[in-house]
Amino acid sequence: MNVFYPAPIERLIENLTKLPGIGRKTATRLAFFLLNARDSYITELSTSLIDIKEKIRLCSICFNITDTDPCEICRDARRSSSTVCVVEESSHMMVIESSYPGYFRYHILHGAINPIEGIGPDEIRIKELRERIEKEDIKEVIIATNPNIEGNTTAHYIGEILKPLDVKITRIASGVPVGGDIVYIDPLTIKSSLDNRKNL
Ligand SMILES: [Zn+2]
Repeated sequence: MNVFYPAPIERLIENLTKLPGIGRKTATRLAFFLLNARDSYITELSTSLIDIKEKIRLCSICFNITDTDPCEICRDARRSSSTVCVVEESSHMMVIESSYPGYFRYHILHGAINPIEGIGPDEIRIKELRERIEKEDIKEVIIATNPNIEGNTTAHYIGEILKPLDVKITRIASGVPVGGDIVYIDPLTIKSSLDNRKNL
Protein backbone atom coordinates (compact mmCIF):
# COMPACT_ATOMS: atom_id res chain seq x y z
CA MET A 1 0.00 0.00 0.00
CA ASN A 2 1.27 3.43 -0.92
CA VAL A 3 1.48 5.84 1.97
CA PHE A 4 0.75 9.45 1.16
CA TYR A 5 1.15 12.60 3.19
CA PRO A 6 -2.01 14.60 3.96
CA ALA A 7 -3.53 16.02 0.74
CA PRO A 8 -2.35 19.66 1.18
CA ILE A 9 1.26 18.49 1.64
CA GLU A 10 1.03 16.12 -1.33
CA ARG A 11 -0.31 19.00 -3.41
CA LEU A 12 2.59 21.25 -2.40
CA ILE A 13 5.12 18.49 -3.14
CA GLU A 14 3.52 17.94 -6.54
CA ASN A 15 3.69 21.67 -7.33
CA LEU A 16 7.30 21.95 -6.20
CA THR A 17 8.37 19.03 -8.42
CA LYS A 18 7.26 21.16 -11.41
CA LEU A 19 10.18 23.53 -10.69
CA PRO A 20 13.31 22.90 -12.79
CA GLY A 21 15.82 20.58 -11.17
CA ILE A 22 13.51 19.62 -8.28
CA GLY A 23 12.77 15.93 -7.83
CA ARG A 24 10.29 14.41 -5.36
CA LYS A 25 12.93 14.00 -2.64
CA THR A 26 13.97 17.68 -2.70
CA ALA A 27 10.33 18.76 -3.07
CA THR A 28 9.43 16.80 0.05
CA ARG A 29 12.31 18.39 1.99
CA LEU A 30 11.19 21.86 0.82
CA ALA A 31 7.55 21.12 1.67
CA PHE A 32 8.47 20.19 5.25
CA PHE A 33 10.72 23.23 5.52
CA LEU A 34 7.74 25.37 4.49
CA LEU A 35 5.42 23.50 6.84
CA ASN A 36 7.64 24.47 9.76
CA ALA A 37 8.45 27.99 8.52
CA ARG A 38 7.14 31.11 10.23
CA ASP A 39 3.79 32.48 9.06
CA SER A 40 5.40 35.81 8.08
CA TYR A 41 7.79 34.02 5.70
CA ILE A 42 4.96 32.03 4.08
CA THR A 43 2.95 35.23 3.54
CA GLU A 44 5.99 37.02 2.09
CA LEU A 45 6.78 34.06 -0.20
CA SER A 46 3.22 33.77 -1.51
CA THR A 47 2.97 37.54 -2.08
CA SER A 48 6.26 37.56 -4.00
CA LEU A 49 5.01 34.71 -6.21
CA ILE A 50 1.75 36.55 -6.98
CA ASP A 51 3.68 39.82 -7.55
CA ILE A 52 5.84 38.38 -10.33
CA LYS A 53 2.69 37.50 -12.23
CA GLU A 54 0.78 40.71 -11.48
CA LYS A 55 3.52 43.37 -11.58
CA ILE A 56 6.15 42.11 -13.99
CA ARG A 57 5.64 42.84 -17.68
CA LEU A 58 7.79 43.51 -20.74
CA CYS A 59 9.20 46.97 -21.48
CA SER A 60 7.45 48.34 -24.58
CA ILE A 61 10.80 49.55 -26.00
CA CYS A 62 13.42 46.87 -25.25
CA PHE A 63 11.23 43.95 -24.01
CA ASN A 64 13.21 43.66 -20.80
CA ILE A 65 11.23 42.30 -17.83
CA THR A 66 10.18 45.28 -15.74
CA ASP A 67 7.70 46.63 -13.21
CA THR A 68 7.68 50.08 -14.86
CA ASP A 69 7.19 50.93 -18.54
CA PRO A 70 9.57 52.02 -20.06
CA CYS A 71 12.05 50.05 -17.97
CA GLU A 72 14.74 51.62 -15.80
CA ILE A 73 17.41 51.08 -18.47
CA CYS A 74 15.37 52.67 -21.28
CA ARG A 75 14.64 55.66 -19.01
CA ASP A 76 18.34 56.13 -18.15
CA ALA A 77 19.34 59.26 -20.11
CA ARG A 78 23.05 58.77 -19.35
CA ARG A 79 23.25 55.69 -21.56
CA SER A 80 24.50 55.93 -25.12
CA SER A 81 21.46 56.20 -27.35
CA SER A 82 23.45 55.12 -30.41
CA THR A 83 24.38 51.57 -29.37
CA VAL A 84 21.94 48.72 -28.82
CA CYS A 85 23.09 45.37 -27.53
CA VAL A 86 20.85 42.47 -28.67
CA VAL A 87 20.57 39.52 -26.28
CA GLU A 88 18.44 36.37 -26.09
CA GLU A 89 17.18 36.77 -22.50
CA SER A 90 16.94 39.37 -19.75
CA SER A 91 19.38 37.29 -17.68
CA HIS A 92 22.00 37.66 -20.44
CA MET A 93 21.50 41.42 -20.33
CA MET A 94 22.20 41.38 -16.59
CA VAL A 95 25.52 39.60 -17.22
CA ILE A 96 26.60 42.17 -19.84
CA GLU A 97 25.40 44.96 -17.58
CA SER A 98 27.62 43.69 -14.76
CA SER A 99 30.71 44.01 -16.98
CA TYR A 100 29.64 47.26 -18.75
CA PRO A 101 27.42 48.98 -16.18
CA GLY A 102 25.28 51.87 -17.36
CA TYR A 103 26.63 51.90 -20.89
CA PHE A 104 24.44 50.16 -23.46
CA ARG A 105 20.81 50.13 -24.38
CA TYR A 106 19.44 46.64 -24.98
CA HIS A 107 16.97 44.68 -27.03
CA ILE A 108 15.79 41.38 -25.57
CA LEU A 109 14.71 38.82 -28.17
CA HIS A 110 13.19 36.29 -25.74
CA GLY A 111 14.73 33.31 -27.45
CA ALA A 112 16.75 32.34 -30.49
CA ILE A 113 15.79 30.91 -33.86
CA ASN A 114 15.49 27.14 -33.46
CA PRO A 115 13.71 25.33 -36.33
CA ILE A 116 13.77 21.97 -34.48
CA GLU A 117 11.78 23.50 -31.62
CA GLY A 118 9.54 25.36 -34.11
CA ILE A 119 10.92 28.80 -33.16
CA GLY A 120 11.17 30.97 -36.26
CA PRO A 121 12.11 34.66 -36.60
CA ASP A 122 8.49 35.71 -35.97
CA GLU A 123 8.43 33.98 -32.58
CA ILE A 124 11.15 36.25 -31.17
CA ARG A 125 11.38 40.07 -31.13
CA ILE A 126 13.30 40.60 -34.39
CA LYS A 127 10.59 42.61 -36.17
CA GLU A 128 10.46 44.97 -33.19
CA LEU A 129 14.25 45.36 -33.34
CA ARG A 130 14.06 46.43 -36.96
CA GLU A 131 11.30 48.92 -36.13
CA ARG A 132 13.49 50.38 -33.36
CA ILE A 133 16.46 50.83 -35.71
CA GLU A 134 14.22 52.62 -38.22
CA LYS A 135 12.71 54.88 -35.55
CA GLU A 136 15.55 55.59 -33.11
CA ASP A 137 18.93 57.16 -33.82
CA ILE A 138 20.89 53.90 -33.45
CA LYS A 139 24.35 53.76 -35.03
CA GLU A 140 25.52 50.32 -33.93
CA VAL A 141 23.80 47.02 -33.13
CA ILE A 142 25.93 44.58 -31.13
CA ILE A 143 24.55 41.06 -31.51
CA ALA A 144 25.30 39.25 -28.26
CA THR A 145 23.30 36.05 -28.82
CA ASN A 146 24.89 32.81 -27.59
CA PRO A 147 27.81 31.48 -29.68
CA ASN A 148 25.93 28.21 -30.40
CA ILE A 149 23.99 27.05 -33.50
CA GLU A 150 20.74 28.83 -32.52
CA GLY A 151 22.50 32.03 -31.42
CA ASN A 152 24.66 32.13 -34.55
CA THR A 153 21.65 31.48 -36.81
CA THR A 154 19.78 34.30 -35.07
CA ALA A 155 22.77 36.65 -35.39
CA HIS A 156 23.08 35.84 -39.10
CA TYR A 157 19.35 36.42 -39.67
CA ILE A 158 19.40 39.76 -37.84
CA GLY A 159 22.45 40.77 -39.89
CA GLU A 160 20.49 40.10 -43.10
CA ILE A 161 17.33 41.88 -41.89
CA LEU A 162 19.26 45.00 -40.84
CA LYS A 163 21.59 45.09 -43.85
CA PRO A 164 19.45 47.57 -45.86
CA LEU A 165 19.45 50.01 -42.92
CA ASP A 166 22.17 52.56 -42.23
CA VAL A 167 23.53 50.87 -39.11
CA LYS A 168 26.79 49.19 -38.14
CA ILE A 169 26.23 45.56 -37.12
CA THR A 170 28.77 43.80 -34.90
CA ARG A 171 28.87 40.36 -33.29
CA ILE A 172 30.51 39.59 -29.93
CA ALA A 173 33.75 37.64 -30.30
CA SER A 174 34.11 34.16 -28.84
CA GLY A 175 37.33 32.51 -27.79
CA VAL A 176 39.61 31.55 -24.91
CA PRO A 177 38.11 32.56 -21.53
CA VAL A 178 40.05 34.96 -19.31
CA GLY A 179 42.12 32.94 -16.84
CA GLY A 180 41.65 29.81 -19.00
CA ASP A 181 44.27 27.28 -20.07
CA ILE A 182 44.64 26.53 -23.80
CA VAL A 183 45.17 22.81 -23.07
CA TYR A 184 41.58 22.48 -21.84
CA ILE A 185 39.83 24.51 -24.53
CA ASP A 186 37.81 22.67 -27.19
CA PRO A 187 39.02 22.90 -30.83
CA LEU A 188 36.00 24.96 -31.98
CA THR A 189 36.67 27.64 -29.36
CA ILE A 190 40.39 27.70 -30.25
CA LYS A 191 39.45 28.08 -33.93
CA SER A 192 37.10 30.92 -33.08
CA SER A 193 39.73 32.70 -30.98
CA LEU A 194 42.23 32.37 -33.86
CA ASP A 195 39.65 33.67 -36.37
CA ASN A 196 38.94 36.60 -34.03
CA ARG A 197 42.59 37.35 -33.23
CA LYS A 198 43.66 40.98 -32.97
CA ASN A 199 46.86 43.00 -33.22
CA LEU A 200 49.01 43.31 -30.12
ZN1 LIG B 1 13.35 48.93 -21.72
